[in-house]
Amino acid sequence: MDNTHDGSIAARLRGVRASLPERVRLVAVSKFHPVEALREAYDAGQRIFGESRAQELAAKAAVLPDDIEWHFIGHLQTNKVRPVVAAATVIQSVDSLRLLRAIDAEARRAGRCIDVLLQVHVAREETKFGFDPDELPAAATEALTLDGVRVTGIMGMASNTDDTDRVADDFRRIRAAFDDLAAGAMAANDSFRTVSMGMSHDRDIAVSCGSTMVRVGTDIFGEREY
Ligand SMILES: *Cc1c(COP(=O)(O)O)cnc(C)c1O
Repeated sequence: MDNTHDGSIAARLRGVRASLPERVRLVAVSKFHPVEALREAYDAGQRIFGESRAQELAAKAAVLPDDIEWHFIGHLQTNKVRPVVAAATVIQSVDSLRLLRAIDAEARRAGRCIDVLLQVHVAREETKFGFDPDELPAAATEALTLDGVRVTGIMGMASNTDDTDRVADDFRRIRAAFDDLAAGAMAANDSFRTVSMGMSHDRDIAVSCGSTMVRVGTDIFGEREY
């Protein structure tokens, strides 16, 4: 039974969790939702939240408990890197070498090393951000030389379409890009193990194609009001 579209946040969260294999981690994407909604999910046991805007992340992190893992999932401009490095546990949306270097510089300035995912672009839509799969080995190799960042996996999105074959094909390409890196540039790094793919509408396909982390907003918190 799909009970994710009604009921309380706690009930929807339970429904989403119950639908996921144990090996798949759940990022509750809370962007545009008020702090009260996040607190409800927190009280129901959720500890990983995803945000897509620097200021919103900073404001929420300042008032919510310290044991939350904040994942930044939005397109990040280099002039917004400082507040995100200050508040985020993981930056999932590293989509260029320029951004990777800016995050490294800011993390070292702040005296820390931050976990990042390399965002890979496979969807057949020109507006999406990310590295092409064939650019990933060079990006990962450069990241290994930077003390301020640790690449723990990759993140990607499928094409925004009802064609489930195409969506599955996109997810398989993301998983293949991860497997290539895991056997290649990142082979010596045990911490390289996250394949972040799957959102509310396509998470079942993503999981069947080898996702280890899904990013779910609408199915937990309801529709966003922009
Ligand atoms: C907003 C967002 C999500 C969550 O989308 P839903 O459809 O609400 O589950 C996941 N990943 C990224 C990168 C997002 O920007």
